Amino acid sequence: MKLETIEDLSFADLICPFCHGELSSHERALTCRSCRKEYPVVDGIPSFGQKDEYWCNVRRETMQELNNRARESGDWLKAARELIPQYVEHIEPFDRADAQYLWPVNGESRVLDAGSMWGGLAIPAAQHCGEVFAVDKTIETLAFLKIRAKQMGFRNVHIVASPVQRLPFPDGYFDLVVLSGVLEWVAFDQDVVLEIHWGKRRQDSAVYSKDPRQVQVEVLREIQRVLKRGGHLYLAIENSIGYPYLAGVPDEHMNIMYVSFLPRFLANTITRWKLNCEYRTYTYSSRGYRSLLRDGGFTDMEYYGAFSHYIQPSMIIPADLIRHWKEVAIPVHNARWYQKLAVKMFPAGLLKYSSPSFIIMAKAPGGDEPKEARIVQVLRKAGLLDGSAPSDIKVVKSGGRAGSYHAANFLIYENNDTRPACFCKVCRNNRYADILENEAKNLKTVNRLLMDTELSACIPRLLYSGNIDNISILVTQYLEGAPSKFNLNTGFTTKNLRKLDSSIQSAIRFLATFQRYTQVSEVEATPHLLSVIESQRETLNEQERLTEEVDSRIGDLVQAIEKLDGLRIPVCAVHGDYDLCNLLFSGDRVSIVDFEHFESEGLPFFDLANLIFNPIILSYTNMKTSDSLLGTIARSNLENYIGRWLALYQRLSGLPAQLLELIGPLSVMEQNTKAYPYYREPRTYPMWGETMLNELLAQRIEL
Ligand SMILES: [Zn+2]
Repeated sequence: MKLETIEDLSFADLICPFCHGELSSHERALTCRSCRKEYPVVDGIPSFGQKDEYWCNVRRETMQELNNRARESGDWLKAARELIPQYVEHIEPFDRADAQYLWPVNGESRVLDAGSMWGGLAIPAAQHCGEVFAVDKTIETLAFLKIRAKQMGFRNVHIVASPVQRLPFPDGYFDLVVLSGVLEWVAFDQDVVLEIHWGKRRQDSAVYSKDPRQVQVEVLREIQRVLKRGGHLYLAIENSIGYPYLAGVPDEHMNIMYVSFLPRFLANTITRWKLNCEYRTYTYSSRGYRSLLRDGGFTDMEYYGAFSHYIQPSMIIPADLIRHWKEVAIPVHNARWYQKLAVKMFPAGLLKYSSPSFIIMAKAPGGDEPKEARIVQVLRKAGLLDGSAPSDIKVVKSGGRAGSYHAANFLIYENNDTRPACFCKVCRNNRYADILENEAKNLKTVNRLLMDTELSACIPRLLYSGNIDNISILVTQYLEGAPSKFNLNTGFTTKNLRKLDSSIQSAIRFLATFQRYTQVSEVEATPHLLSVIESQRETLNEQERLTEEVDSRIGDLVQAIEKLDGLRIPVCAVHGDYDLCNLLFSGDRVSIVDFEHFESEGLPFFDLANLIFNPIILSYTNMKTSDSLLGTIARSNLENYIGRWLALYQRLSGLPAQLLELIGPLSVMEQNTKAYPYYREPRTYPMWGETMLNELLAQRIEL
């Protein structure tokens, strides 16, 4: 194809989706040399749809307005925040593409994101793949994606409007095709504006002639055609018999209970009656997908369970490891007793058939060389998987805070072990690679400080950090242990407090030892703390947060500090986020992870205060009581517990009681005036904010 009007050279390979003939390009259109069909080029997007179709969460007019603003302002994100703030979390963060590290692709691969919408997958994938083609039938969302890719500087994202049933690409063109949340919709031909239609009666009607499964098979065959021999389909989709749907959670497509697994004629009767539309958004069980994919021409399939949903999975687990993950995969914090009982009774072995969603890696025939997940390729290059055959390695995506700043976490299993060989953090967005680099630097320091001590096994040992193939990773040894059993959602019941007590006692023992091993010097308490408080007071003043009340409480604190005359405080390492959520418990043993905020020299009370107050404040917030925090502490048994914890710490650390009595005010001042790195939102720290500043400044514990 000769290119005159399209600036994008990557379109040179496009073909006629109907007869697969060559295309010639002229003013604002492409014409098939064989069948003479003409395809318009709209805003630089070649458009192969045979009719005007629309599928989006928001109305067409909103999308058009969004595109105009994004184009004119040069800031797509700002435009999205103004016009569709409720979907920014849907569009912007790279965490929705964490599964890309499981794709068997490399830096040269050509990937097709079929049904790309706003580019939630296409954009993050463009960081690590050679070329990404984004295809959708809705021109407005594609126009948005085109603006977004351009403004973000991705020149390897190519945008084409086309239904997935007939693709304008030659045979064997792609290494990987992504179908995420798309296959279930392909047989549904009517326009969808999700926020209008979801679960409501439709005014329009449509006559369908083809069975939905048949349409899905045809789409799979078309995808197989454009895949290279041995190329892969990445299919992310709901499980029709996933446990949420069995338990009555409405199906995601029609917003009606049970339809996903009812006999199709019955589901159809229900949607016709309730929504005035046919039931065509078929999803299947694992067996159903197997047979569907076989009919679509795929041979080998690898199954993963995605929890709690494939759109933003916190866990992606290979099918044969799922049974070991039951407790993590089905969270029951907020469940009622009978739900907890049902989960307890549920056989772990069945969980692989009933995960809420599936991620399926299906291989097209041919290409005998085994292809490994991207992350496995990277770890091999780092020299960490020497000697393991591809079939012996399994990867679990496990947690990682949401958002682009934070890393995605993976566990690597070798030799069919049920215990991970190592733990791996992958930087989601390369613009923020400095965050991982900083953590690696901290880990090196703390590894060195605790070398040859009994604590060395309780912190992650750094195995590798660096950038391989444009992917920034940090790999540590895996640490055994379970999170604290304290439940942040059930308040301060006797039983719950006992769990908190056990966790905090173990963590205090660890902390005292950690501080002893890392102590570098001592300072004189009064002059040091007075100068610290004075500069913190100044910071609050500059930020216009120094209210009269806060100022007068700082005055009280200063008086108390003056009375510490002659006392000395050790200077030692500070973890910086010594919170229950970063601690792992196994018997009496405590392990600690996440050294993002580590400092090798600081005062010992900040970690202690985080440990004690964070869970209390979080539970208190969840209780939504009108009582103050200090009131709640005084009226529950907590006051005694806090006293006992401080006494334990005092005994172990030798720190003077007069100083420990002040840890609430001292640490709340520190939390509220710290310089935070750009990637951490201070508001996410429990002790941060006006209310806690007022409350904890007044807090005193008599020891
Ligand atoms: Zn043609």
